[in-house]
Amino acid sequence: MPTPSVSRKWQSFGTSIFSVMTQQANAAGAVNLAQGFPDFDGPQVIKDAAIAALKGSYNQYAPSAGLPELRRLLAARQASKSGLSYDWESEVTVFSGATEALFCALQGLFAPGDEIIAFAPFFDCYPAAAYSSGAKIIGVELRAPDFRFDPAEFARQITPRTKALLINSPHNPTGRVFDDDERRFLRDMAVAHDLLVITDEVYEELVYAPAKHHTLAAMPGMRERTLIISSTAKTFSFTGWKIGYAFGPKALTDVLRTVHQYTVFCSATPLQMGMVAALKLQEAYYDDLRRGYLERRNLLVKILLDHGFRAKAPEGTYFVVADYTQRSQLGDLDYALELTTRAKVAAIPVSVFYNDPKEAGQRLRLLRFAFCKGLDTLSSAAANLQLAGTGEAATVGT
Ligand code: PMP
Ligand code: GLN
Repeated sequence: MPTPSVSRKWQSFGTSIFSVMTQQANAAGAVNLAQGFPDFDGPQVIKDAAIAALKGSYNQYAPSAGLPELRRLLAARQASKSGLSYDWESEVTVFSGATEALFCALQGLFAPGDEIIAFAPFFDCYPAAAYSSGAKIIGVELRAPDFRFDPAEFARQITPRTKALLINSPHNPTGRVFDDDERRFLRDMAVAHDLLVITDEVYEELVYAPAKHHTLAAMPGMRERTLIISSTAKTFSFTGWKIGYAFGPKALTDVLRTVHQYTVFCSATPLQMGMVAALKLQEAYYDDLRRGYLERRNLLVKILLDHGFRAKAPEGTYFVVADYTQRSQLGDLDYALELTTRAKVAAIPVSVFYNDPKEAGQRLRLLRFAFCKGLDTLSSAAANLQLAGTGEAATVGT
């Protein structure tokens, strides 16, 4: 029998940093501010709806595109937020997480040699999903400490091979929310070069005033060339349910659905029913969610500043990127491991979110910390940093 091994195509992709750091955190008994999952659950009413669906008759395949009621509610919320109207039947699709939607988009729309521009650091599934179609992610850097991009550098990256922009705002890991000028620039580039645009908006509800989220799809000339990809994971604090969704003109939606049929066919029916209840929550739910995260954000930034990191409060998401130059000169992967084992606080090394992590690791001294955690968890992280700082063995894990 031939020895099983990962196919050539996938050889450059090892274990995801999220699995690596969570495993390290668990092994060290460290506070896990690495992987971005809340350490609390979303509203009980959503769970109850999923439980009722399980106990009832929602246990067989859903329509491949998603439960009609969920798609209707998603279309209605999109219309009320952005003014964009999507036909729930032909332009809204439910996926097993934004991850699957991104995979279907990149797999279905691109071919070997195509280039897709994204802002580096970028979420780790982008290169893998692009690579699966033979396309390549070209990174344009958001540079610390403000994480803005250089428009001239962006324009230079556009070549005849460029087929699309993959824009993630609010941005993981930096927390940037693109402002009006940046969005206008991106729109102008897309229109001038006739590019498709895929917007990853999974943190759309986690934006802190005065920043505001506006989808690029709502700008003139953009609806017909744009796929909006988002997820219920962060908005409703059920990351393990993996219910994502996409909006797009019928021609683009048809491509996604073709791939979706043969990846998962449909997403878990009772969990879609849970999200039907989620989409019926009032605006107060979203306000409370943001208020809670704002308090956690401010606490985490203070903790990091108190312990010698340099960090700014992010405009969106539940991540803070912090510079640790004053604490260590180790590369970020080594430092993330050291912080986990010695201070018992786990974070993500930012260099992994680049096409060339080695090169990025040599020049960046940045870690990403997640604040989608209870205030007590964040306080435990502070206590651990304090103990490690005074040279004592840190013991306060969660
Ligand atoms: N995009 C970004 C920027 C993310 O941070 C994540 C993390 N979950 C995803 C996509 C994937 O979302 P989901 O969990 O719904 O697959
Ligand atoms: N999006 C989450 C993060 O950035 C993790 C997703 C995952 O574990 N694949 O931390």
